[in-house]
Amino acid sequence: MTRMWMTNPKKLCRQHLLGEHKELHQLIGSLNKGKSVKGHIEKGQVEIHNIKKRHKQLVKEMARRGYKHNSPLPKFKDYKAGKINIFENEKELVRRCKECRKLAKK
Ligand SMILES: [Zn+2]
Ligand SMILES: [Zn+2]
Repeated sequence: MTRMWMTNPKKLCRQHLLGEHKELHQLIGSLNKGKSVKGHIEKGQVEIHNIKKRHKQLVKEMARRGYKHNSPLPKFKDYKAGKINIFENEKELVRRCKECRKLAKK
């Protein structure tokens, strides 16, 4: 499952923060292998043009929490595609994850 949440990184629990970060790397892997990410774009799960920016945000938050990051972002070609509904994602995280729910209340 490849999915960018695009919500405030401070409000992501450890699992979801590290998960989204890992999925960004997987997404770039798919792009570089020429695998289609059309389904993810159509379902509003990724924003190709925001991968680099989002990776910076997540790494910054990981550093703040003292998590290790030793995986530089590989080069890849980005382009404008995908539109994520951040408000819906915030709601979904709170609904499905107890830890994210705790952080949302802070
Ligand atoms: Zn990374
Ligand atoms: Zn969570």
